[in-house]
Amino acid sequence: MFAKLIIDIANSGVDRLFTYRIPEELEVREGHRVLVPFGRGNKPVEAFVIEVCDEYDAGFEIKDIIRTMEPYTALLKDQLELAKWIARAYHCTLCDALRLMLPSQLRGSRVKEKTVRTVCVTDGLDVSAARNTLLKKDGTARSPRQLEVFDLLSRSGMPMSVDDIKAYVPSSAQAISTLIDKGYITEQGFVTFRSPFSGSVERDASPELTPAQKEALDAIDNGREGDVFLLHGVTGSGKTEVYLNAISRVLEEGGGAIVLVPEISLTPQTNDRFRRRFGDTVAVLHSHLSPGERYDEWRRLRLGKARVAIGARSAVFAPVEGLKLIIIDEEHEPSYRSESRPEYSTDEVAIRRVRLTGARLVLGSATPQLISYLRAKQGAYKLLSLPERINGIPMPEVDVIDMRNEFMSGNTGIFSKDLADKLIKCVREGEQAILFLNRRGYSYHGECRSCGFVFTCPHCDVAMTYHKFDGTLRCHYCGCSVKVPDKCPSCGSRYIKYSGIGTQQVEEQLKKLIPGVRCLRMDTDTTGGKTSHRDILEAFTKGEADVLIGTQMVAKGLDIPGVTLVGVVFADSSLFHSDYRSGERTFQLLTQVAGRAGRALKDGEVKKGKVVIQTNAPEHRAIRLSAEHDYKTFFELEINDRLRTLFPPFAVFARAQFECAEEKTAAEASERFASEAEKAILGALSSFGKDAENELLFLSYGPSPIRKRENLFRYSVMIKLARTKHTSAAITELWKLSDSFDPEGFRGVEINPNDLL
Ligand code: ADP
Ligand code: ZN
Ligand code: ZN
Repeated sequence: MFAKLIIDIANSGVDRLFTYRIPEELEVREGHRVLVPFGRGNKPVEAFVIEVCDEYDAGFEIKDIIRTMEPYTALLKDQLELAKWIARAYHCTLCDALRLMLPSQLRGSRVKEKTVRTVCVTDGLDVSAARNTLLKKDGTARSPRQLEVFDLLSRSGMPMSVDDIKAYVPSSAQAISTLIDKGYITEQGFVTFRSPFSGSVERDASPELTPAQKEALDAIDNGREGDVFLLHGVTGSGKTEVYLNAISRVLEEGGGAIVLVPEISLTPQTNDRFRRRFGDTVAVLHSHLSPGERYDEWRRLRLGKARVAIGARSAVFAPVEGLKLIIIDEEHEPSYRSESRPEYSTDEVAIRRVRLTGARLVLGSATPQLISYLRAKQGAYKLLSLPERINGIPMPEVDVIDMRNEFMSGNTGIFSKDLADKLIKCVREGEQAILFLNRRGYSYHGECRSCGFVFTCPHCDVAMTYHKFDGTLRCHYCGCSVKVPDKCPSCGSRYIKYSGIGTQQVEEQLKKLIPGVRCLRMDTDTTGGKTSHRDILEAFTKGEADVLIGTQMVAKGLDIPGVTLVGVVFADSSLFHSDYRSGERTFQLLTQVAGRAGRALKDGEVKKGKVVIQTNAPEHRAIRLSAEHDYKTFFELEINDRLRTLFPPFAVFARAQFECAEEKTAAEASERFASEAEKAILGALSSFGKDAENELLFLSYGPSPIRKRENLFRYSVMIKLARTKHTSAAITELWKLSDSFDPEGFRGVEINPNDLL
């Protein structure tokens, strides 16, 4: 027998199948990882078995597989197929696609299995005879510890870990080894799994579902293989409870499930909710696990000891055998798109995977991506909706405050009168509030009042942000910081204005407004450490502060019953980005943040949530309609605009990026790429007829919006194609060009990049 395999080396030069002989004594199947001699020196390298066959292409020298890396196949059949699809769809090597499916710790055997020393009564031992030898003539123990250990083990009838025995019989290490020497007990070792969970949780059961929840659950349950559902439910409408019930049913049938949540909501809160329902059959996969934990959680899934995988984006590749359900919660989150090669979209991958396995996919959100809702309306997805909050809790009441009027009436502070009054009342009544700012240190930059000089980063072409607490200006792209200068480097004036609003300033003003207020701040400055983000949330949940101030981080998935007020300090900061999605993102963000208010019953009483949105653009539809909780109207208006102006989902963007130390090099390379790309794309399109050429809507090149970053000049080629049945042919040509294009600083082609900077 022979095996066709992919060498585990990320290099497009070896991105093809190599054939090796399977020695008789080895059992090798598709999906096994194996060790093979490779290259001229026959160095042993790891490889993935893609296919097992009984013949091979004569004419090549054939080598033997050395051994399998794991006794089990590391890759499931559907994962192999998925990897092949990813390599095609996102234009990467098969090796890169396969690597997505495995914890990096597995490759190169960097983490070892953890074994625990155990002992048990020796097989076939005459227990009472043996016990007698441990006794003196008068029936007392010769060595009390040996007798205790021996009795403990013979009573339990099972192997026990040495650590456990020591807990029962203190200082028994010597007694245990003596018993082993006598042959009364036998030492074994068994493999354990390192667990990211601390402590056990109490199990709970599902509450009685509401009629709307039942309807959604039944639809999912009765769905056909490969079906995709869009669960559109307002915040707090009980979507998670629907997921939990759908998973229960899948587990009853002996199947498995994958639940994807945004990384930021992978809090102990979320994990515990699933563990309370499903216990140890839940495994979590995320970047905060130790390497050992990650490896072991992956293995628990692969070996069937866990059948529900919870994780961020990459858990869509989890090795769940008998996969019946994939859930993507908060499906609109931009983090579901991978930012590194291959740049996959999690929903696209999930759709592919449910088709390959016959599972079903549920996309859940209060603010679905426009494309998802469009597909649901067109019937490609099945639309399920939960229009109301659980327990009749009303949607929060939202006030939109026009900050221009506040300014006109003499209020130059950060808080409008309305927000200030509500904050004071909230804190006085012992309730909690969240203050939300769209970005860290929003436009908090320094500008010279005399000459207009703006302090920009010396390495990047962006304004630096003023950090008051340590008197520095910092660049949020490269992290460099400089002391605040006391005079303008351009004209020498001493009048430098620091304008804009930052989270620090909000904190200061809040403390002035409410002396003694306890507040916590959460942004990338305060959450550098691995756990501090969780620590802050936990402290706030426990009521250790009255107000939480934060950037996007506070918007997502928080479910804190004490919160009755949410203030959006300045809502416009994401609106006027030169990005066609800024309206959609603003709507999503505001809806999410507002959803944090008044989520629960307090002392059996409904506490109506209040939201205040401060803005200079109250008439903007993203603000107006999110305040009215009106997703459908927002969708209609936005999608019509996208159709009229031909923007995604009716078009596809492609961007080629160049980053060079010399500006001229970058400029020339982008110009050359632009002209070759135009030729290639028009060539591909014209094969479908003269009219098809019009599907190239736009092609331009020049400096990127951030022209310089970390001392590199950035130029890009932007291409817009109408989305038609010809698009993929055009993109294939673009990729061919990108593969053969190799000037210095070329960063490759991205399709629909997440940010356009
Ligand atoms: P979502 O995921 O839509 O934000 P959740 O599933 O988290 O909503 O539900 C919001 C709250 O309501 C949670 O505290 C949850 O435990 C509770 N809940 C959900 N469904 C029910 C139900 N049928 N009966 C009682 N409480 C429920
Ligand atoms: Zn100046
Ligand atoms: Zn910089």
